Formats: sequence, C-alpha cells, structure tokens
Amino acid sequence: MIAAFEYFAPKTVEEALSLLSKYKEEAKMIAGGQSMLVVMKQRLLTPEYLIDIKGLTALDYIKYDEKQGLRIGALTIHRALEKSPVVQKHFGVLSEMEGNLATIQTRNWGTIGGNLCHSDPAGDPAAVFIALKAKFKLASSGKERIVEADEFSTDYLEADLKPNEMLTEIQVPNPPPHSGTAYEKLMVMKGDMGVIGAAVSITLSGKDSVCQDARIALSNCSSIPLRAKKAEEVLIGKTLNDGLLTEADEVAATEATPPSDVHGSAEYRREMTKVFVKRVAKLALEKAKAA
Ligand SMILES: Cc1cc2nc3c(=O)[nH]c(=O)nc-3n(C[C@H](O)[C@H](O)[C@H](O)COP(=O)(O)OP(=O)(O)OC[C@H]3O[C@@H](n4cnc5c(N)ncnc54)[C@H](O)[C@@H]3O)c2cc1C
Repeated sequence: MIAAFEYFAPKTVEEALSLLSKYKEEAKMIAGGQSMLVVMKQRLLTPEYLIDIKGLTALDYIKYDEKQGLRIGALTIHRALEKSPVVQKHFGVLSEMEGNLATIQTRNWGTIGGNLCHSDPAGDPAAVFIALKAKFKLASSGKERIVEADEFSTDYLEADLKPNEMLTEIQVPNPPPHSGTAYEKLMVMKGDMGVIGAAVSITLSGKDSVCQDARIALSNCSSIPLRAKKAEEVLIGKTLNDGLLTEADEVAATEATPPSDVHGSAEYRREMTKVFVKRVAKLALEKAKAA
C-alpha cells in the first residue's frame, strides 16, 4: 500500500517551485504517475508531500524554430510527440521512437519530463536525446540551469536534479546539414521496454561518406543511458564503410556494462548491442546521405 502523503495541485510553475523549495527532500513531484505510482507502491519512495504537476499546462508545448530548433515542455505527453507534424517533419526519429514506447494508454498520460526524470536506463527517449545533442532546462525558484542530455542521468533511477529543481524544457538543436539519426530497440513485443536499444547520429562532411561527427547512445546497457564515446571516435573523421561500422559496434559492446535479468544475460545484451549499433548506424548513415 502507498504510504500516506499530503497532496498539492499547484496551478502555476512558480507555485510548484515554491512548494519544492519549501519541502525539498520531503517532497516529490508527480506528473502522469506512470512510474511514480509504481515506485510509491513498492515503497522505494515515500514522499511526505506529493506535488501534482500534471495540470501545469504552461509546460505542455512543442515549439519549432529554424534557428533554435525544437523546444518541448516537460509536461508534453508521449502521444503528442509521436503525432506532432513538426516533430515528424524535422525530428522523425523522435516520433518513431515514441511510436514504440509502451501502449497508447501510457503514451496518452505519461509525460516526456516524467520519463527523463525517472531516469530508467532502459527508457527510450534519453538515448535519442543524447544522440540529438539535446539539453534539459531545470528550474528552481528564481533560477534556471541547463544540463546536457548525456550528463543528466547520474545512476540507476537517479538524475542531476536538486531537491528544489524541476525539469521544465527539453531543447533539441537543429542538426547540421547531411545528418541522420536513428533509434531501434530489441523488443519481445511491440511497445515493450527494450532489452537493449541503440541511438546513432551521423553527420557527413558532404554527400560523400566522410563522417564529420557521430553520437552513439545505448539504452539498458548500463546503470544510466550510456554514451559510447569510444565507439564514436572509431567513426569520426573516417570514410564510413561496413568494416568501420563493425569496428564501432564491437567497441560499443566493450563500453556497455549491461545487467543480467529475466530478459537476457549481460553476454546476450552485449552481443545484441553489437547487432543494434551496426544496424542503427547503417540507418543513420542512409538518412544522412539522403538529408
Ligand atoms: C506499462 C508501461 C510501459 C512502459 N514502457 C516504456 C517503454 O517502452 N519505454 C520507455 O521509455 N518508457 C516506458 N514506460 C515508462 C513511461 O514512459 C514513464 O512511466 C512515463 O513517461 C513517466 O511519465 P509520468 O508523467 O507518468 O511521470 P511520473 O511517473 O509522474 O514521474 C516519474 C518521475 O519523474 C519525476 N518527475 C516527473 N515530472 C518531473 C518534472 N517535470 N521535473 C522533475 N521531476 C519530475 C517524478 O517525481 C518521478 O520521480 C512504461 C511505463 C508503463 C507503465
């Protein structure tokens, strides 16, 4: 059973932040509750004060600008990202990823901010945002700071969020010309959490196959969504070919420290990491050539 708590439903972001700064460690926010209620039922979290932010419509938006790129309010639901024409046009990988995240019911209620702040290494959006070089805007009363997507998760279910801070916005820059990003996860059934997942971004120097920049991020391969920096280095500055992609997938697998559980052993996950990094890098390369 869930432990007793005092419930607040602030009407504004300022009110929510003021409650957070008043109650700090004793308070937790709840958005869609899709993850929060599970950890409360398990008594992994027993907040004395629960701050319900689901009604903060000011943080429910998707905005696109040619200079600034994409801005997503933390209270935006997964389904809105999946169906947004602007996301589909400029950041198709995000919409594709959302289409395979959980069921329509969960996507219709769970928020992108809740997913990221829950900091589950198996979550899909974090890896994609790392590949897209996104930044997260965190707010506390009277203050804001920006954290890079690849530095936000600090440990299993832990994020770089101070007790008086909340995530307000995800900022995704427009990729340079000749860029492509792809994400795929190994699912037993469509919509499952990935046994492992890989997101790859590739930027070519022109219409040739010289890799100017690369980002590789792995889900469910560590205690955090993992950026495979050594594998990125294999690709950057080189003319991409099948052999080089194989080298990158092997290096990525050495960077992974996956768990062993009922869904697969660490060894199996490492092998699948190789398969998925190469498969997804090929998709990203095709997209970059076509961009
Ligand atoms: C059946 C099921 C299947 C799922 N499958 C997948 C899947 O395939 N892939 C995947 O990635 N995820 C999956 N999920 C996870 C799901 O995406 C998350 O549960 C959901 O997005 C969390 O959002 P929420 O709004 O419900 O957050 P909540 O559960 O309300 O909150 C989650 C955590 O984030 C904190 N929080 C929420 N918003 C903020 C904020 N703005 N600032 C600071 N802290 C905040 C809360 O305090 C809490 O710690 C699944 C969940 C379920 C229930």
